[in-house]
Amino acid sequence: MAEHESLEFGKADFVLLDNVSLEEFMANLKLRFEKGRIYSYIGEVVVSVNPYRAMNIYGRDTIEQYKGRELYERPPHLFAIADAAYKAMKRRNKDTCIVISGESGAGKTEDMSVTSVCLYRVKNMLLKSNCVLEAFGNAKTNRNDNSSRFGKYMDINFDFKGDPIGGHINNYLLEKVGVKSVFKCIFQLVKGAPDAQLRSLHIQRDPTAYTYIKVGGQIKSSINDSADFKAVTDAMKVIGFTTGEIQTVYKILATILHLGNLKFGSDGDVTLIENSKLVSVLGDLLSTKDENVEKALLYRTVATGRDVIDKQHTHQEASYGRDALAKAIYERLFCWIVGRINDIIEVKNYDARVHGKNTVIGVLDIYGFEIFQNNSFEQFCINYCNEKLQQLFIQLVLKQEQEEYQREGIPWKHIDYFNNQIIVDLVEQQHKGIFAVLDEACMNVGKVTDEMFLQALNGKLAKHAHYTSRKLSPTDKNLEFDRDFRIRHYAGDVAYSVVGFIDKNKDTLFQDFKRLLYNSSNPVLKAMWPEGKLSITEVTKRPLTAATLFKNSMISLVENLASKEPYYVRCIKPNDVKSPLLFEHERCKHQVEYLGLLENVRVRRAGFANRQTYPRFLQRYKMISEFTWPNHDLPSDKEAVKRLLQGCGFEHDVAYGKTKVFIRTPRTIFNLEEQRAEM
Ligand code: ATP
Ligand code: MG
Repeated sequence: MAEHESLEFGKADFVLLDNVSLEEFMANLKLRFEKGRIYSYIGEVVVSVNPYRAMNIYGRDTIEQYKGRELYERPPHLFAIADAAYKAMKRRNKDTCIVISGESGAGKTEDMSVTSVCLYRVKNMLLKSNCVLEAFGNAKTNRNDNSSRFGKYMDINFDFKGDPIGGHINNYLLEKVGVKSVFKCIFQLVKGAPDAQLRSLHIQRDPTAYTYIKVGGQIKSSINDSADFKAVTDAMKVIGFTTGEIQTVYKILATILHLGNLKFGSDGDVTLIENSKLVSVLGDLLSTKDENVEKALLYRTVATGRDVIDKQHTHQEASYGRDALAKAIYERLFCWIVGRINDIIEVKNYDARVHGKNTVIGVLDIYGFEIFQNNSFEQFCINYCNEKLQQLFIQLVLKQEQEEYQREGIPWKHIDYFNNQIIVDLVEQQHKGIFAVLDEACMNVGKVTDEMFLQALNGKLAKHAHYTSRKLSPTDKNLEFDRDFRIRHYAGDVAYSVVGFIDKNKDTLFQDFKRLLYNSSNPVLKAMWPEGKLSITEVTKRPLTAATLFKNSMISLVENLASKEPYYVRCIKPNDVKSPLLFEHERCKHQVEYLGLLENVRVRRAGFANRQTYPRFLQRYKMISEFTWPNHDLPSDKEAVKRLLQGCGFEHDVAYGKTKVFIRTPRTIFNLEEQRAEM
């Protein structure tokens, strides 16, 4: 018996459980975790538990062992799923995708890298792009030391021979600097850049000297900052960033750190910059005149009728503008980096008429569901995104089964499950959803406060089963009266503070800053801010809100995934203390429940646990029947399989589709395997 079929390690596939109950599911999951078996299956879905320790299972030799095999032939592994997605793409000439989901810290990004190593084969460039994106898009949070603060969807293109020829990345950035987290690249710069480079950027080697790092609060000390810094810089070089581009990237990071330290004061009615030395540092880094920097920080150009005047900021407005600038240039930098990587990795000059169809495997790794002490707009978006992905899982895992039975002409019985569409609607529905109410509040002229937005929500959503606020439920002590609302998400209840919703939803960067950056003599920086070209009188269009942009990007992401054949990896976080030994039963149970894993097993079992094409089935089992060994003389492989199974007495447990034989219980497969082993 193969190692993965030995009971010592539990059942490799949850479909094989004797009884489908939560208790048995949990017992099996725990046993496997304790035995170091971090991957299991539910049919073709991988269940992955974060081991919180280095596993010796990702080598080249292991990849080789999985190539070309069927899932059940080897112990469960991501390599098997990557290979299955790859084979499906090649055999059927169809795009596939691998969707990795689970809460923050569950191991999605690690699993994504493992999967990519297997898929990219030789494409070093794609691996290097992961390294750069992680440095600029990951940060330490309470939940995860290396938390993805951006979502990443990457298409890997393959030519007709099945070789990877390029890719394309879509990013979904959310968190911004100076808010809650400090991106890895910022630490790497301050702690790991060579002395001379830091000097040229006017940066000290002391993270605590920078307000934004202190506010972010989570100082991450890596043992090898300078090696990390070098690795990222080298990766940018390998990808093909020019020296000028790399320098500009670091100048921008330095700019952000200096901006955070700018202090405003006032002299009577006049707002001024207290540490004006920083203004010339900024002028130097941004390749622009000091007075332009100062003016953009202290004044705002406004058009009143036909006149254009410079209006001085109040102290508060100036601080607000400074922070908005820091956030905006980071966001722009990140998008620019993704754009540059895409320029380089995108497939060019592929002629389908000559080379045949170019097919795609998409890999999605996005921020996982999260609940913090204080949850804001970012968490709201992140959790909405996870609702969308859960909805897709529900639809596709059922749909895929249904379609297969239909295609093969086999009847199907419906299994019940919690459908979270109602929560998705609560957030995204036109006119009535939370995003719509937020956008409406932001459209109002005059001062709209976050509290007014909350009132509007209460007015519209009072009756919704998944929405409450303190006002609507006055005895609920966990909710602040005029600040919080709560959503009952599929993965748990989350109270959101409305503070900052309005602000974060609007594009609040003063036009003056856009012009400042556009007018830089650094061509790389200038190219990042094309809209700075417009003069004040030319800016008329109201930009789309953050909520609308996010919603649209999620809708198109889901449409894209739905058009491909999906493979799922469901990640589970075993405990909240990053321990390799601890399997916190309640925490894990909760995840198993909300991920719908038990329903997944039921659907899989009510259907057929196993399906194989007739030739494939014969290839594996023909030796156990005299009718089929060494060859059969029946009119078709289908007839031969029928005869074989009848001979074994399994007639009642199977169904014959057009191209595949379906086997209901795993026991039958086990039995066949045993007979095979005895031959
Ligand atoms: P987020 O949603 O916050 O981005 P995530 O699901 O992407 O979270 P990861 O960053 O992949 O979580 O994993 C968190 C940490 O857990 C990793 O930094 C690593 O220390 C550990 N870890 C996860 N998977 C593995 C693995 N397969 N082998 C070893 N360690 C792992
Ligand atoms: Mg991640």
